Amino acid sequence: QWDRVLGKLRTEVGEAAYRSWLKPLSLLSGDESFIRMAVPTRFMRDWVASNYQDRIQALWLEEIGTPIDVEIVVLSPSRPVPKPALVDVKDEPEVLRAQERDVPVLPVATDLPVEAVQESDVQQITGSLDPRFTFENFVVGKPNELAYAAAQRVADAEAVPFNPLFLYGGVGLGKTHLMHAIAHQIRKAHPEKKVIYLSAEKFMYQFVRALRTKDTMSFKEQFRSVDVLMIDDVQFIGGREATQEEFFHTFNALVDQNRQVIISADKSPSDLEGVEERMKSRLGWGLVADIHPTTYELRLGILESKAEQLDVEIPQKVIEFLAHKITSNIRELEGALNRIVAHATLVGRSVTLETTQEVLHDLLRANDRRVTIEEIQKKVAEHFNVRVSDMHSARRARAVARPRQIAMYLSKQLTSRSLPEIGRKFGGRDHTTVMHAVKKVEELKATDLEFAEDIELLSRMLEN
Ligand code: ADP
Ligand code: MG
Repeated sequence: QWDRVLGKLRTEVGEAAYRSWLKPLSLLSGDESFIRMAVPTRFMRDWVASNYQDRIQALWLEEIGTPIDVEIVVLSPSRPVPKPALVDVKDEPEVLRAQERDVPVLPVATDLPVEAVQESDVQQITGSLDPRFTFENFVVGKPNELAYAAAQRVADAEAVPFNPLFLYGGVGLGKTHLMHAIAHQIRKAHPEKKVIYLSAEKFMYQFVRALRTKDTMSFKEQFRSVDVLMIDDVQFIGGREATQEEFFHTFNALVDQNRQVIISADKSPSDLEGVEERMKSRLGWGLVADIHPTTYELRLGILESKAEQLDVEIPQKVIEFLAHKITSNIRELEGALNRIVAHATLVGRSVTLETTQEVLHDLLRANDRRVTIEEIQKKVAEHFNVRVSDMHSARRARAVARPRQIAMYLSKQLTSRSLPEIGRKFGGRDHTTVMHAVKKVEELKATDLEFAEDIELLSRMLEN
């Protein structure tokens, strides 16, 4: 009887939906007026219950001629699933009793009956990968070492090491690069695995389109059959409730099934705006790795590695100049290098410091405008509870001298002002005073962890 109903439903919903949602159903028990079925995840239970339950009941009535109650329970396939057979309801297996009390989902299984989707479907929703964004091409430094290590771990691990991996950091700092690198690596080692990478915007677009064409079913199927799902720039779903809801379901379904999920955003999970609390907390369950703003050393390393791959000779002086001046992010740094090279190639002249300054004058100005010494002084004064005027004053009491030194240090780090320029902004002090301040703060940072964190925090606040 059940087979008849199921067969009917199959022709109704189509083959793809049948494979994703109905085939995994296993009939546990039932009689003429009651059936109980099991699905592997909670998400599937909700989905089947809200989308097919009514139809099952209607078809049953139509086919068999009696009304029927349908119950759907979650049963992990790692537990023995009783053979589908119509048995007495009272003979239900032991494991079900626990399930009925709605205990947490049982141990995750990796061998769920999820069928492969059509290759064309995957193509349709996958964002393309940049072949240059590999681990080999990623320069590692202090600001990104945690994110890099986590990404490698996810790419190389045979079992899911943490779920989700949440990467966050400001624009142009390498989040997308790392995600593509993971995808490349997994595809190389496991060509059979389904790896999907796409931006949250694209996810949203696909979802909205699916809604419009009433094809949400195949949309869901495509995502639910992947081994690794990566969603880039997830902050874009903030404030979009329907997309968020859908994303949340997809996310839960995959994590429930022990499939690797990788998310990136410009903020930490808890700082995401317009995102539901339950979602924020869920996003932070795995490993959260942040990418910090670049340091001079990292910028230098990146420029050197990129310059090596160019046909044009870039003098070391120019590389140092760029590492010093273009502090905003790595994308701009690369852009700057490309512009210099393009210019040199075009006019047929070699790259020099002069041409660099000329070609990049707008970019250099923009990088200067990012944070001003005045802003630094204000923030630091606020932070240490001293007056802004103390930044310029001659007072030498430790309580004001230390914050002043910190402000000088940050001015050196975050702006492209020279030492004498900085000195002038601090009540006309000498450049050696500024140099001394920078040294002092560096020393303290190296010996006092709490102090180092404090400075780091200030620096991040100023950068944003
Ligand atoms: P995000 O996604 O964080 O905005 P991207 O991953 O798009 O940043 O990186 C911007 C550019 O900088 C890309 O061209 C990328 O290859 C490059 N890039 C970022 N981080 C590194 C790094 N550590 N080493 C080499 N290139 C990098
Ligand atoms: Mg990106």
